Amino acid sequence: MASLIESAWKFLISHFSDFQLACLGSFFLHESVFFLSGLPFILLERAGWLSKYKIQAKINSPEAQERCILRLVLYHFGVNLPVMIFSYPVFRFMGMRSSLPLPSWKVVLTQIIFYFILEDFVFYWGHRVLHTKWLYKHVHSVHHEYATPFGLTSEYAHPAEILFLGFATIVGPAITGPHLLTLWLWMVLRVLETVEAHCGYHFPWSLSNFLPLYGGADFHDYHHRLLYTKSGNYSSTFTYMDWIFGTDVGYRKLKALKNVGIEENSKEKKQW
Ligand SMILES: [Zn+2]
Ligand SMILES: [Zn+2]
Repeated sequence: MASLIESAWKFLISHFSDFQLACLGSFFLHESVFFLSGLPFILLERAGWLSKYKIQAKINSPEAQERCILRLVLYHFGVNLPVMIFSYPVFRFMGMRSSLPLPSWKVVLTQIIFYFILEDFVFYWGHRVLHTKWLYKHVHSVHHEYATPFGLTSEYAHPAEILFLGFATIVGPAITGPHLLTLWLWMVLRVLETVEAHCGYHFPWSLSNFLPLYGGADFHDYHHRLLYTKSGNYSSTFTYMDWIFGTDVGYRKLKALKNVGIEENSKEKKQW
């Protein structure tokens, strides 16, 4: 496996320059993972499949979905791509490389865990700031236009927010100067995680059922369906920041009520 990845990497670096891989390669990888993981949820919503796992009863109109996709393509080319190009010298300066040998899996794993923790921390505070009156009205309300999220809405935001919260995603790699392969892996995992958080479905196989401290769709969906001053659940990945700072009180209450409801239901069934 390791040698297979190494020979694939060898092929890439012998056919493309470091700049091409870091900027255009990253952009292409991001677009592929984002749309391939997000589009199935649009189809699920339109076809009504697996609807019993849908968190909210409300569904988005095809027009609302298409408007989201169009804006995303525009922002990806107009904001994300230039950011990737202009931040390239910073990453190079901090030691990012694409050459062989590839880093050991221990280094890759440690860096990615660090990125997740740091991103969640920075995102939490940045997101709380975005929920103050002026910033919400002029910037963050764009992301909240979709009170019923569907996968692709994860990156639907005001360009200023893309830059502001995008900082949370790139600060970890920017200060550690990882191998490009690690950066790609981080990007793929982060995209899959945020698409899942916005997918609108809570399945029996959802990661949050198995991973303690992981938020997932149920956690972030709550953030979208409530009024901006009452929403809470500001974290991107984990649940502990909201728990420490008491911004998940409403969500916990609702969950406790639901659990009581489930227990009562099963008691009733047993009596029958
Ligand atoms: Zn928000
Ligand atoms: Zn969101």
